[in-house]
Amino acid sequence: MQYTEIMVRYGELSTKGKNRRTFIMQLAQNVRNALADFPALKIHADRDRMHLLLNGEDSQAVIPKLTQVFGIQNFSPSIRCEKEPQALKALTQSIIKEIYTGRETFKITAKRSDHSFEMDSHELQQFLGNAVMDIFPAITAQMKRPDINLRVEIRRDGAYLSYETIKGAGGLPVGTSGRGMLMLSGGIDSPVAGYLAMKRGVEIEAVHFASPPYTSEQALQKAKDLTEKLTPYVGSIQFIEVPFTEVQEEIKKRAPQGYWMTLTRRMMLRLTNQIREARHGLVIINGESLGQVASQTLHSMVAINEVTTTPIIRPVVTMDKTEIIELAEKIDTFELAIQPFEDCCTIFAPPQPKTRPKLEKVEELEKRLDIEGMMARALANLKIEAITAGKSEQADDEEFADLL
Ligand code: ATP
Ligand code: MG
Repeated sequence: MQYTEIMVRYGELSTKGKNRRTFIMQLAQNVRNALADFPALKIHADRDRMHLLLNGEDSQAVIPKLTQVFGIQNFSPSIRCEKEPQALKALTQSIIKEIYTGRETFKITAKRSDHSFEMDSHELQQFLGNAVMDIFPAITAQMKRPDINLRVEIRRDGAYLSYETIKGAGGLPVGTSGRGMLMLSGGIDSPVAGYLAMKRGVEIEAVHFASPPYTSEQALQKAKDLTEKLTPYVGSIQFIEVPFTEVQEEIKKRAPQGYWMTLTRRMMLRLTNQIREARHGLVIINGESLGQVASQTLHSMVAINEVTTTPIIRPVVTMDKTEIIELAEKIDTFELAIQPFEDCCTIFAPPQPKTRPKLEKVEELEKRLDIEGMMARALANLKIEAITAGKSEQADDEEFADLL
């Protein structure tokens, strides 16, 4: 079936009162980004619906991309036709011919926003229902839960027919909740955390700690590839690489192994927080899951979290590993994440990390480190890159240097 337009129904944003306009504008922008490969497609957003005019673009290629845009409850591909009874009758019959297999029940749902049209909704339903019965006398009309619900809308610019409702991604349009910094490793959990934060409207930037030469070029590339897997939901994501070698070497040299992990995590969080501030982020997002490893006991979280009052969102904190993996498979990050490239935490992993680190001890050990100096050096050497679906490009990090 060659569709003319796709009618999009908004998700939760319909309930957002006076912010509604902002939400709709953001959603329209996100849809435009997601469908950038279809230049002829036009978007018309109004208060209740968004209409994507296909202008000849292939609906079968558009639909999978549209299902990834957050803030959409569902959508219906539709066919435009003249507002004229005989034309409506002919199109109704040809649609039913195409989809009816001899078993389904059916219903016509008509809606008329153009009141100058010669029939009212009820009359139109009768008329088109009869048109269907004319060609399939044995077909059963059923008002409650019919198998086929053919919707007809009479609007000012024409009549629109649709019979399919496709589920959207739900959530809120990315960008409407503000910006957050995603601490992105090369593992399974953090990309899922990033996906879930985006689902609730957060625009993310990825912060990745790399410790060359201990960590490889492949490990870095893996983090970028994982970031790329998150781009279909937004178009493009800033990837910020933080040089972390000096910090890890210093901690290893100056602290007992039981505390390496806590000290390392505190440094990661301090640095992420500074980057967040410079880049006008509101929150930090990570992939911690309660009890998964030593750094993720509640005691560890408290000791690590102590370096900042910035809210830390942990979307997967209460999920089981199997639940996280299920989502990772759904967003296609799982296969990549399990590739065995060591990241900075595995390489400096202490044999027996403390699961109940003592805060006084942590603070005493930190006195041996030049925290300010190491942070300044790391922040002066960030590498920032925009990752876009299918390509990555060097961003202007000069500008960023001024912000710090
Ligand atoms: P993940 O699967 O996300 O790597 P994990 O189960 O391996 O998580 P950890 O390695 O303990 O757990 O990391 C916990 C969280 O700390 C990660 O989810 C991520 O948010 C952050 N993190 C760990 N390593 C890095 C890194 N190299 N760069 C950025 N963030 C990191
Ligand atoms: Mg990890």
